[in-house]
Amino acid sequence: MPTPETHAVLSASSAERWMHCPGSVALSKDIPESSSDYAEEGRLAHALAELKLRKKFLEPMSPRAFNTRYNKLARDNHWQPEMDACTDEYVDYITDIANSLSTRPFIAVEQRVDFSDFVPGGFGTADCILIHENTLYVNDYKHGKGVPVSAENNPQMMLYALGAVLNYRLLCNIQSIHTAIIQPRAGGIKESNFSRDELMDWAVFTVRLAAEKAADPDCDEFHSGDWCRFCPAKALCRERSGIVSAMDNFGGRLPPLLSDDEVANVLSKLDPLIRYGEAVKAYAQNKILSGGEIPGWKLVEGRGNRVWTDQTAAFEAIKAAGIEEALLYERKPLTAPALEKALGKKVFAEVATPYITKQPGKPTLAPLEDPREPYNPRFSAAEDFQNIKEDAK
Ligand code: SF4
Repeated sequence: MPTPETHAVLSASSAERWMHCPGSVALSKDIPESSSDYAEEGRLAHALAELKLRKKFLEPMSPRAFNTRYNKLARDNHWQPEMDACTDEYVDYITDIANSLSTRPFIAVEQRVDFSDFVPGGFGTADCILIHENTLYVNDYKHGKGVPVSAENNPQMMLYALGAVLNYRLLCNIQSIHTAIIQPRAGGIKESNFSRDELMDWAVFTVRLAAEKAADPDCDEFHSGDWCRFCPAKALCRERSGIVSAMDNFGGRLPPLLSDDEVANVLSKLDPLIRYGEAVKAYAQNKILSGGEIPGWKLVEGRGNRVWTDQTAAFEAIKAAGIEEALLYERKPLTAPALEKALGKKVFAEVATPYITKQPGKPTLAPLEDPREPYNPRFSAAEDFQNIKEDAK
């Protein structure tokens, strides 16, 4: 999930959306951005990463001062033990870069960068910038594990780089740029390199034009795609709702069974359709919950669970009735991922790695452009088919 940059309408973190869909800016200007547990977890992990970087590079901090600030973060409801190991990976990566350089680099953390020369009102906050001689390093921490983010041609990273090149132009003559996305829970570290000339060409011939369109309050150019998932208008946008009618194009005198080409067509629309459906459901539920109405729909109570009102008293009564205590409890080992989450990646790697093996995953459909290797059957096709059938039950 992109980190929100308050007040910049054409922000770096939303650039993928407004560059692909310039009309989304005007369309969503009055729609409040909703927060989520994932966004809150990202905010907290960023705060922890910032604290660690400041301690390491910028602010000498006594252990006591660090612990006070650390403990305050750890008391947050969205705290997860694995945040520690994930942010360590980020800090280690930046430390390795700094240590590989011949002299100490300039380092800035949570640095506001302004690219309004090319994007009206455009600015962003880069997680960590290093400058050494004529090289700029832009580093971005991502805590999300749902969508691996690529660093190649990533407009968010390129806008941070553009802002840094402009902001520091009087101090240094940046010629080459290295960007890195550190996403420990989804693919690890992704990097990209480009020159200042390539960046400036992109700024002049691509960004400036896209930003002019996006800043136009009357812009009605809409294009739906992966970027819709972070758009405030994602539930109500008519352009996006077009994917529903796009599923219904097989009428007329066509044969009664779909061809494989038509199956491919349905598959390509399925994931966006599911995401769109989830956004519409969330919008409708929130509207009814906050006192509004959606014609023909209501909220009902979901299936509830039976819970103890007084577990201690209940267990005493059950034991008094002659039931053995052993029947009342179960003791089962945590799975490897659950234990890693509880212990943190570092401790888990130190003590448990020799006892871990990775079982092959089940075959999953993916489009040809998916970066993963094609599935290599290690079992018989009949066995795989049986697994798929069982999953579908
Ligand atoms: S939902 Fe998608 S298509 Fe609609 S305005 Fe937002 S980004 Fe554009």
